[in-house]
Amino acid sequence: YAESALDTAKLRGKNRLCFFSPQDYERKLATIELQEELEAAVRAEFKGFSIQFQAQVRSESFDLYGAEALLRFDSPRRGAIQPAEFIPVLEDSELICPVGLWVLRQGLEQCRQWRRTHPRFHLSVNMSYAQLRQPEIQSDVLRILRESGVPGNALTIEVTESMELKDYPHLNTIFREWKKEGIQISVDDFGTGYSSLGWLKELAIDEIKIDRCFVSGIQNSAYNLRLLSNMMELADSCQIRVCCEGVEKLEELSALSRLRPALYQGYYFARPCTPEAFADNILNGRFDPPKLAVAAEPAC
Ligand code: C2E
Ligand code: MG
Ligand code: MG
Ligand code: MG
Repeated sequence: YAESALDTAKLRGKNRLCFFSPQDYERKLATIELQEELEAAVRAEFKGFSIQFQAQVRSESFDLYGAEALLRFDSPRRGAIQPAEFIPVLEDSELICPVGLWVLRQGLEQCRQWRRTHPRFHLSVNMSYAQLRQPEIQSDVLRILRESGVPGNALTIEVTESMELKDYPHLNTIFREWKKEGIQISVDDFGTGYSSLGWLKELAIDEIKIDRCFVSGIQNSAYNLRLLSNMMELADSCQIRVCCEGVEKLEELSALSRLRPALYQGYYFARPCTPEAFADNILNGRFDPPKLAVAAEPAC
């Protein structure tokens, strides 16, 4: 107890008094347990991990562009755990490195299968800074891509916008090697971290994903609309594709449609779902997002 109290206090920074409550202790214990479960899952050939797919939709035609692969974890003790809880634990323990490559491999295998009937199907995969820090990441990704048989231009790698990324000198080299194979680089959660277009240009970023916090309730916020419009103008001038994340409501969609982002993703179109459900309902089903409702809106 004392040891973990000290650890927690250290994490909160130096030169400050820190109270440690039983709740803190329980939280810390839960994290340790979760980490042990995640380690065991990796050792057991990723048992307990799975991937869901969320549709990405072209804005001009409302047809399917592809999907983002989203990692899921089922704890043997607690059942489904939220990514917001288990991803940081994977990152802190660097377990994200083997798990992230597993997601890439599985995602690409699924993508290869789906491209047999949907040749333009595109896959997006998230990548943590902890993975990009690994010296082997550049060749690992290229090897897995090659083994999958999927062309590089069907893959986008999403990295979350953060200071860490900007400070990482080798990123430029890694991204350029990937881009030679056609892989595209996307900045996830754009607008929430360190936004600098100089940086976007330097790293030759292909896509930004506007964070849900800007999209949510956009129809009621002239300020956010202006902000978004500026972001998109800048992205446009750098030839960066824009994907709007977290579109939940028709009102949001019609406000966004005037700004003309290239892609949409959000519950309004589809929730993340298992590969089976994705194939049944979205690929082979009647994936028919209600475009008429948008077209009926006045043009400006
Ligand atoms: P993200 O990459 O920004 O993924 C989008 C998140 O927003 C997903 O949450 C998705 O389910 C959620 N979302 C999509 N549309 C909507 C919407 O309309 N409304 C709302 N409220 N939410 C929406 P999820 O699956 O919980 O994942 C959370 C984060 O965990 C991801 O955010 C990503 O940063 C991370 N993550 C997930 N899978 C992986 C992975 O394989 N590797 C790494 N490194 N990180 C991952
Ligand atoms: Mg993402
Ligand atoms: Mg993210
Ligand atoms: Mg995001």
